[in-house]
Amino acid sequence: MSAIILDGKLIAAEIQNEIAEEVAEFIQNDGAAPCLAAVLVGENPASEVYVRNKQRACGRVGIESQLHRLADDASLDDLLTLIGKLNRDNNVHGILVQLPLPRGIEEKRILDAVHPLKDVDCFHPENVGLMVQGRARYLPCTPHGVQQILHRSGITVAGRRVVIVGRSDIVGKPMANLLLQRDGATGPDGVNATVTVCHSRTADLPSVTRQADILIVAIGRAKFITAEMVKPGAAVIDVGMNRDADGLCGDVDFASVREVAGCLTPVPRGVGPLTVAMLLRNTLAAAMAQLP
Ligand code: NAP
Repeated sequence: MSAIILDGKLIAAEIQNEIAEEVAEFIQNDGAAPCLAAVLVGENPASEVYVRNKQRACGRVGIESQLHRLADDASLDDLLTLIGKLNRDNNVHGILVQLPLPRGIEEKRILDAVHPLKDVDCFHPENVGLMVQGRARYLPCTPHGVQQILHRSGITVAGRRVVIVGRSDIVGKPMANLLLQRDGATGPDGVNATVTVCHSRTADLPSVTRQADILIVAIGRAKFITAEMVKPGAAVIDVGMNRDADGLCGDVDFASVREVAGCLTPVPRGVGPLTVAMLLRNTLAAAMAQLP
């Protein structure tokens, strides 16, 4: 058996077209375009690429974008001052602080300083709390992107066993929370899963991953999940983005897992484009939430 490959780029393009129409309508009714301000500290080449991709995507759907650069040696205070300025700027609706920040700057201090209404990454504790309680203001971009891939590929989540490998605050934990809800952005069939979350201390990981109808992997280990760890016919979503000798690759060993899985996201052209699309969706929602 060879898995159906789920084309994230295609799904993201479909969503971006929908967002472009909604942005045009918003501008027609309310005058100003939504605006996303990106904050980039230092010169991390991967971060440069991510921010450029996000800005290009903004341009494609009619969202304005700004780029605020700080040097590698910027202090916590420099960064807090910039965030404060963007929080007070009525022309800025969403603030994106590109991670990782240089060593020595505590990320939580910075992310907590972003105004909750402008927190389009859904990292602020207020927004995380609302999401966990099932009354989300914004949905976390990567987990929501995964949900959209499943939904738009016709994969039912409700009642199925989902195993998530990785428990980060950015992917694993919010992913588990979203799929546990009773209802959500993709309707009750897109949530209501029976969720298991694994991490580096999980005992006998393969025996757990093999139980998954839907396996979602976000650990940052190149090609870690192999065919023996996957239940035949499972849907496998690879969130990982790593570089190895062959170039960009996911956390899933694509070559072996595609022979076992029912469907599988590739890297690149998998989850990454959806993360960007969901950021655009949140920026539009933020502009709506901040209408005077
Ligand atoms: P992270 O903060 O480093 O967290 C990694 C998680 O994986 C931790 O919970 C860790 O467990 C777990 N883990 C590590 N090694 C493991 C192992 N051998 N067995 C089981 N669990 C293990 O990473 P992240 O921010 O979630 O990112 C994960 C990957 O997704 C990275 O490759 C990142 O680049 C990618 N990513 C992609 C997108 C996208 O848009 N496609 C977005 C975000 C992240 P412990 O908690 O026990 O340490």
